[in-house]
Amino acid sequence: NNNYGIDIWSDGNFIIEDGLAKVNYDCKPSLISIVKDIRKQDFKGPLLLRFPHITNKQITTLYDTFNASIKEYDYKGNFNAVFPLKVNQLPNFIHPLVAMGKKYNYGLEAGSKAELIIAMTYNNMGSPITINGFKDKEMIHLCFIAKSMGHNITIIIEGLNELEMIVEVLNETKLACPNIGLRVRLHSGGSGLWAKSGGINSKFGLTSTEILEAYELMEDTDLVKYLTMIHFHIGSAMNSIKPLKKALRESGHIYAELKNLGAINLKSINIGGGLAVEYSAYERTRFYSLSEFANDVVFTLKEIAKQKGVDEPNIFTESGRFISAASTVLITPVLELFSAEYELDHLNLKENNPPLIQELNDLFNDMTKRNAYEFMHDSIDHMESLLTLFDLGYIDLQDRSNAEILTHQIIKKAISLLEIDDYEELKKLDENIQEKYLLNFSLFQSLPDYWGIDQEFPIMPITHLDKKPTRSASLWDITCDSDGELPFDLKKPLYLHDVNLNKEDYFLGFFNVGAYQDTLGMKHNLFSHPTEVNIVFKDGKVVLEKILESQKIMDILEDIDYDTDEIKTILNKNLSKEIYEVLEKYLNENSYLKTIWSYYDE
Ligand code: PLP
Repeated sequence: NNNYGIDIWSDGNFIIEDGLAKVNYDCKPSLISIVKDIRKQDFKGPLLLRFPHITNKQITTLYDTFNASIKEYDYKGNFNAVFPLKVNQLPNFIHPLVAMGKKYNYGLEAGSKAELIIAMTYNNMGSPITINGFKDKEMIHLCFIAKSMGHNITIIIEGLNELEMIVEVLNETKLACPNIGLRVRLHSGGSGLWAKSGGINSKFGLTSTEILEAYELMEDTDLVKYLTMIHFHIGSAMNSIKPLKKALRESGHIYAELKNLGAINLKSINIGGGLAVEYSAYERTRFYSLSEFANDVVFTLKEIAKQKGVDEPNIFTESGRFISAASTVLITPVLELFSAEYELDHLNLKENNPPLIQELNDLFNDMTKRNAYEFMHDSIDHMESLLTLFDLGYIDLQDRSNAEILTHQIIKKAISLLEIDDYEELKKLDENIQEKYLLNFSLFQSLPDYWGIDQEFPIMPITHLDKKPTRSASLWDITCDSDGELPFDLKKPLYLHDVNLNKEDYFLGFFNVGAYQDTLGMKHNLFSHPTEVNIVFKDGKVVLEKILESQKIMDILEDIDYDTDEIKTILNKNLSKEIYEVLEKYLNENSYLKTIWSYYDE
């Protein structure tokens, strides 16, 4: 039975009931009911639905699991976490996260000046802020300013020059100095698609020689008292836990050695991010559980502390993918099924048809369950021959149209006759029979990791889930770019329903899109970030909170530095007032497709 792998990827957040995808929380609304409510307000393009309760669940699970391990091992250090802003900086996501994180002292991590400003403004006072990435003196000055606001901020040093800049800012401003962390460059690397952030050739961190030099410099400049943290990050989305154990041992020993050198206030190890989420709808790709992860961290650090006779360090994590991915679902309306153009009522056979077309017609009429496979394959062969005949000028456009219609009808009939119960059987059907679904979204904008690094995301229609999907599906977006496609893949086949869009809606959900996709996405063809909505629950009812519409056309143009007054003046010049008013209405709409069936009434 095809349930789109929901048991593998959904972590109980979504369920299928009565043929509908539902949110498994509170009043358990179906996604389609939420989508309909939003579309009623005339938002017809793609939608990003955010579920803060899922973010909350992840935060709670993270803290509870680590605190349980700490208790189990009678570990003396405590657990702390920050959310890395790079994973999702958008206010609709961040505001609820900060509010929900307050009771845990959940903090923020920033890797750029703009992210730091978000952290300085919105982080719960007293919750940790960690600063990673390459910095200039100005950024370090900003960290000092954050400290003077009362923030609990740690500057994590990536290179010796950053320490020198800290000394300069300290001397020049006389402001109180933030805590200092050292990012270590481990010789052990990570695993998975993003493993290159760890390891000796990684872009980040101090080598052992540099750590010793940094320590000396801190001694000379009286900064040792500010050194509180050792940091490493072995890469996002680790699929196995083994590299983490190695990295923990390596960094644990560095921590202990620095403590033994005299780093009196060094008390924390920040293990970066790396917690994976399950993106696959076909088989599990993450080979550890969160409690295994937490137990390993706690146990390994305890052992090292014992071996070297130092205090057990506080633990920090910076996992963001784990916190945010599941919170966001992208809903894309299906605009068109490619073969819908091949409805039987368009068939216009001649009195005398070319023999191959006559034969297609016979195949169609004579098809039975027994011969369906064979007839379908014959029809595909005939179609290819007919296309060649057309190119050579032997059949005309009407013949070609008839051939296309008949072939598509034969394929549809074969699929329905075969009543294929088993997906292995469906898989055997020719790749040639795939249906192309046109989706109202931009893959470049909304699933950039699919475009850039072939990251898969779970895909599932949000209705029709009690009916068998029979069409092998390729998905097309509305950009004018052939890369804007998720092609049918025999190894990871996607089957969708054969729907008549003149009569019913069909929407696809892309799940686990809350990490990285929002701001990595790009405005190819000037399709901007989709309309987004926070879905919250109050008194057993769904509340649509903070609907943020996708940018209006004029705002998109302004964003890429067009002078919008000039645009209006030029457009206005040769138009009557009446027509210009119509045009102006369009300038104030977003750029996604809106009406494509003019006779279609919701
Ligand atoms: N911390 C640092 C320093 C990172 O570079 C990253 C991302 O690569 C993270 C945290 C977030 O990790 P993840 O994507 O595994 O949540």
